[in-house]
Amino acid sequence: MPAPKTSGPTILVTGGAGFIGSHTVVELVAAGHPVLILDNFSNAKPEVLDRLARITGQAIPCITGDVRDRALLERVFADHTIGAVIHFAGLKAVGESTEVPLSYYQNNVAGSLQLLEVMQAAGCRNLVFSSSATVYGDPHAVPIREDFPLGTTNAYGRTKIMVEDICRDLAASERGWHIALLRYFNPVGAHPSGLIGEEPQGVPNNLMPYLLQVAAGQRECLSVFGSDYPTPDGTGVRDYIHVMDLARGHTAALAALPGLDGAVPVNLGTGQGYSVLDMVKALSAVVGRPLPYTLTARRPGDIACCYSDPSRAEAMLGWKARFGLETMCRDGWAWQRSNSGLS
Ligand code: NAD
Ligand code: UDP
Repeated sequence: MPAPKTSGPTILVTGGAGFIGSHTVVELVAAGHPVLILDNFSNAKPEVLDRLARITGQAIPCITGDVRDRALLERVFADHTIGAVIHFAGLKAVGESTEVPLSYYQNNVAGSLQLLEVMQAAGCRNLVFSSSATVYGDPHAVPIREDFPLGTTNAYGRTKIMVEDICRDLAASERGWHIALLRYFNPVGAHPSGLIGEEPQGVPNNLMPYLLQVAAGQRECLSVFGSDYPTPDGTGVRDYIHVMDLARGHTAALAALPGLDGAVPVNLGTGQGYSVLDMVKALSAVVGRPLPYTLTARRPGDIACCYSDPSRAEAMLGWKARFGLETMCRDGWAWQRSNSGLS
């Protein structure tokens, strides 16, 4: 793709080499924003940068470093005109967060706190923060609206609520902050090129990466966690969203930031819930053969049903998800094939 012209202040993308961050960088470049990635590569490979250059037609500047390195952050703000920050950097595995909670509070809460301090000192008050639907815990109803009560059962979820609270307190204490707290539902799929996508380390915890590895012959069979939930087919229901839709949600949030006063939570989901068996069926259709699964016990801590009311995103950001389940599966499968060396 020919390199698009970029102009205006730089968008600092922390965690920009990761799954959602890398896809968002593609959208930011397409929207004409100069981008600077800051990533410590704790959960990303440097090859992502070459892939991003191939997709966008330009080298994406990247600083290898940690958001908790204060001197580094201060240098970044001193050396560049940063117009806004999109803050993806953090740890994200629910199970791991119960085993090493301090790492989660350190990376996610202390990292965000330091970023906000440095932003404040530099006079940059525009932030898009990666929050999560996990902040709703087990919702009392679906679809989930942003004004539902917050509550969660694990350390990861608590780090997201804490950072949201810090943002709300900060924005209430001082005028001029524009913060979008984007609550993602379940991101799946990949860039249609098959060059970038999600690359879990070890055994995937999440449904789609696991199912894609079953499809690629790397795992034998999907264990479906629970078939006695009060859902149409008894399996858990979630709001799966194509990562390119999610990425575009960030450029929409950036464009809308001047009109968002304070710290505003916004759901990014499709508003449509699919069960585990719906996902197995959809990916089987794309792969062209039935994928093996077995019904097993519920996974502790799981909830039955979770999907968004996405109307605020449309009203405030002018954003709506475009891609359906088939595209999510097709693009996820293309990435899985290329990443596993299958033809
Ligand atoms: P990811 O692990 O692929 O990306 C995170 C990136 O941040 C990685 O490249 C990692 O190397 C980097 N990083 C981690 N800690 C860092 C630090 N201290 N300093 C600098 N870089 C650091 O994860 P993702 O799926 O792209 O998620 C991005 C954000 O979205 C995270 O904050 C996550 O909690 C949130 N989120 C993800 C999901 C999901 O299902 N993927 C859902 C809701 C919210
Ligand atoms: N799930 C499953 N088998 C797996 C992984 C997940 O049946 O190997 C189910 C899980 O119980 C839930 C849905 O798939 O109902 C989505 O799980 P995921 O971990 O991807 O997302 P989350 O539960 O965090 O929303």
